[in-house]
Amino acid sequence: LYDVIIVGAGHAGCAVATHLRGYGFDGTILLIGEEPVLPYQRPPLSKARLTPHADPKPLELYPASVYADGRIELLLGSRVEAADVHARFVDLADGTRVGWRRLVLATGAAPLVPPLPGVELPQVHVLRDVQDAAGLAAAFGPRRRLVVVGGGYLGLEVAATARGFGTEVTVVEARSQVLARVAGAEVASFLERYHRSRGVVVRTDAQVQAISGMRQGQTAAVQLSDGTQLECDAVLLAVGASPRDALAGRAGLVCDGGIPVDVSGATAIADVYAIGDVTVRPVPQYGLRTRLESVHSANEQARRAAAAICGATPREPETPWFWSDQFDLKIQIAGIRTEADTAVVRGDPRRPGFAVFHVRGDRLRAVEAVNAPREFALGRKLISEDVPVSASALADSAVPLRDAVV
Ligand code: FAD
Repeated sequence: LYDVIIVGAGHAGCAVATHLRGYGFDGTILLIGEEPVLPYQRPPLSKARLTPHADPKPLELYPASVYADGRIELLLGSRVEAADVHARFVDLADGTRVGWRRLVLATGAAPLVPPLPGVELPQVHVLRDVQDAAGLAAAFGPRRRLVVVGGGYLGLEVAATARGFGTEVTVVEARSQVLARVAGAEVASFLERYHRSRGVVVRTDAQVQAISGMRQGQTAAVQLSDGTQLECDAVLLAVGASPRDALAGRAGLVCDGGIPVDVSGATAIADVYAIGDVTVRPVPQYGLRTRLESVHSANEQARRAAAAICGATPREPETPWFWSDQFDLKIQIAGIRTEADTAVVRGDPRRPGFAVFHVRGDRLRAVEAVNAPREFALGRKLISEDVPVSASALADSAVPLRDAVV
């Protein structure tokens, strides 16, 4: 019997284990992860660690000593098949049954695979874990052709990384612009142009109909609805991820596109918490309930769940933030843009080193920065402080940002 069992040893699961010790929790902790390697950071898998050279070792989240010193028992390469939230145990794939007093579900998300003919071909990849990354990167190199289906952040990061190895890359996007769902128009069109200038072929308004094998299965072809055939050595499906909430659903939690939780990660069932990509969480500053797939959100939820389990006072909710690296660009985003009414550009949006401030009334709601870390940092602070700002001052690079507060 463990005081806390955590299912899923990714960003959220590992963070809640360490935060529990940080809050002085003295009970026993078992962290169960299905992947057979020491827990690692996922973001580098589409960036620096997506490489065909040598053995791309993942970047560990913590050294092994952190688990040992923190008395965090790690059970890796082990899948939880079922959870009984009344009798309070979990069943592992090998038949072992382990009891708990509190359960934390941190099972993450899985890549969406669109129901298209041909997705089972060996040339077709998704990207979530270290094995996916190794398989995908093996197809990179000069005269190799990669088709990325989906022009979101993940797809564009892989496009940039693959280009860096000389790969011929085509990005296929169903909407009229890449990043249409996740970025403001200025940043989206800047990034689309930037990718084109680096040799990525970007096809927007393009629908994939099927993928088929070519040349006796040596290559694949992505067929678009306008009749175009894109022959290639590899295809990456990067069309989003879905929450891995089946275990929670079978345990009796009513899931709707994720496990619903409160600000502390508490679910509808006593002593059962859920954190990270698998959850639908409140974002109080924006009056929203949504899934936030980011390292920051996983860490923030982990900290708050740990505080709740320990009966400690949690920190104030934080402004969500996210980053993406593409070529020599660092894109940093804070806040949520969708409910803003004005986009204020600071700097020249045709070259790296600009920021877009999304304002609603006199409040800053979100900032998107491209190679503009100071604008990002200050913007994030102004969002958190919820102070009135002047849009004209935000737009004027000659006015120091902190003077934009009115
Ligand atoms: P995960 O990290 O996915 O961990 C969940 C773990 O649970 C997995 O290891 C899974 O195997 C395990 N698991 C699931 N079910 C079971 C079970 N039944 N039994 C045992 N184990 C189980 N975010 C950013 O903020 N910035 C970025 O630049 C960025 N880049 C990314 C690049 C890539 C390639 C990917 C895939 C994601 C990226 N993200 C980025 C998103 C970020 O990695 C996720 O938001 C974060 O990993 C969420 O943490 P999590 O713990 O909820 O899920």
